[in-house]
Amino acid sequence: MIHRAPNNPSIMNVSRGGRPPSPHMMIAAPLPEDVSVSFEFFPPKSDATAETLWSAIKRLEPLAPEYVSVTYGAGGTTRERTHSTVTRIAKETSMAPAAHLTCVGASRDEIDQIAQEYWDAGVKHIVALRGDPQEGSNRYEPHPQGYAYASDLVAGLKRIGGFEISVAAYPETHPEAISDQDDLDNLKRKIDAGATRAITQFFFDPEVFLRFLDRARGAGISIPIVPGILPVTNFNQTAKFAKMCGASVPSWMHDLFDALDDDPDTRKLVAASVAAEQCRVLHANGVNAFHFYTMNKADLCYAICHIMGVREDIAT
Ligand SMILES: Cc1cc2nc3c(=O)[nH]c(=O)nc-3n(C[C@H](O)[C@H](O)[C@H](O)COP(=O)(O)OP(=O)(O)OC[C@H]3O[C@@H](n4cnc5c(N)ncnc54)[C@H](O)[C@@H]3O)c2cc1C
Repeated sequence: MIHRAPNNPSIMNVSRGGRPPSPHMMIAAPLPEDVSVSFEFFPPKSDATAETLWSAIKRLEPLAPEYVSVTYGAGGTTRERTHSTVTRIAKETSMAPAAHLTCVGASRDEIDQIAQEYWDAGVKHIVALRGDPQEGSNRYEPHPQGYAYASDLVAGLKRIGGFEISVAAYPETHPEAISDQDDLDNLKRKIDAGATRAITQFFFDPEVFLRFLDRARGAGISIPIVPGILPVTNFNQTAKFAKMCGASVPSWMHDLFDALDDDPDTRKLVAASVAAEQCRVLHANGVNAFHFYTMNKADLCYAICHIMGVREDIAT
């Protein structure tokens, strides 16, 4: 039986449209085949990490994800490695790759050239981001000849080709935004410029996402907003990272991972349980697309997809 977090009132009380939460929701049979998934990878730094990445890609490929995306290092540091990973996915797998591209550290001409190369290589989906500054610098400075914000980049990409463009959204508001409304207005600007999908920053409490979705729909945003799901294996590191991103870590998660610092096997089981439960609650509330931050590892994502009814025999 899948563990139900006892101290998580939001999971237990989540309901939409006046439906009371089913007491059996957490132990129901696999969900119908209306679930679509996508996976995010980061480009490898060495031959050894490339091997890990490619074994994860090959393991997840039979699940027929809608697309798989490859990140662009903070400060624009992985330009070549992102490009070669994306084009290799396009050539050697059956999956549609999406290339992350950021505004950081490059002029508009340089970014346009990268985008043109993707277009020419048949890569037609870009995840367009402002980007974070390079390590060591905590303040974002637009390049003097660059695209300043993601909305400017989306508009630039649209001038190059008919890219499918996904952008970032923040259920708990981007840390630099002056208000929740300002952040939603920014999401709208990105959509007005041509984005057709938003992928969210990770979050842990499903209610956080569902409230954000309600606010976005209330503000007239109708494009798909896909929850970013992070199966947590290293809890302490994730908690630190979450603080930097403005993502909250509920107290029930601290409880669940308590005393497991030296027990990676149990941490993994707990991680799968937490993320699967998160997906199932979201699905029970009408969400049917999920974007997984894989951290270049397949096993947790594969298990969660299995629980969600996304399986090789169904997908192929
Ligand atoms: C799904 C996803 C994938 C990601 N992938 C990567 C990646 O591959 N590489 C990477 O480096 N980072 C990545 N990030 C992190 C992202 O780059 C950072 O969160 C970054 O700080 C903001 O990027 P953005 O595209 O949301 O920026 P924007 O949408 O441009 O917004 C950034 C901030 O600026 C504000 N703003 C926007 N326009 C204006 C304006 N005209 N005037 C004043 N303020 C404005 C917004 O309110 C917001 O606070 C990713 C994030 C997500 C959610």
